Amino acid sequence: MKIGIYPGTFDPITNGHIDIIKRSTMIFDKVVVAVTTNRKKSPLFNVEERMEMIIESIKDIENHKNVEVESFNELLVSYASRKNASALIRGLRATSDFEYEFQMALMNSKLDRKLITVFLMPNEKYTYLNSTIVKEVSSLGGSVDCFVSQFVNQKLKEKLNQL
Ligand code: ADP
Repeated sequence: MKIGIYPGTFDPITNGHIDIIKRSTMIFDKVVVAVTTNRKKSPLFNVEERMEMIIESIKDIENHKNVEVESFNELLVSYASRKNASALIRGLRATSDFEYEFQMALMNSKLDRKLITVFLMPNEKYTYLNSTIVKEVSSLGGSVDCFVSQFVNQKLKEKLNQL
């Protein structure tokens, strides 16, 4: 059984992330979407909220039964080994992602020689999309319905009203 881990902050999950999850289910028997509890990025949503938004947003994808959503708070390579994963999955949007992703992939492969990193490109319509820009647009009253699921759209409105 081929298991792939898709790690990230997912604050919140966008259609770009969903596109990568869909593609991953075509390659792996099981895809674990792993939400980091790392607070370095000061997320808007807590881990439970981020996980709930992922679960709700992937309900309609064809192979969603092969997708597991979890949180992790340890070294990524240790977590991946505990999950018996053969690969880490990362999305590559533009060349601006490359330098950081290249560094992470090399470091992770230094830490665990058996673990490979697989890069997937999303559909070109998502290449400019990230969670930060979605939060920014939404906080200024702009519509983000074509960038996130309905569930996330609603949660964003609720959260930003509380601030
Ligand atoms: P961000 O980079 O927006 O803070 P995450 O930490 O949640 O998002 O990213 C997790 C992974 O998903 C990373 O590999 C990132 O490159 C990828 N990703 C994020 N947004 C997109 C997108 N629009 N298209 C493809 N991949 C994406």
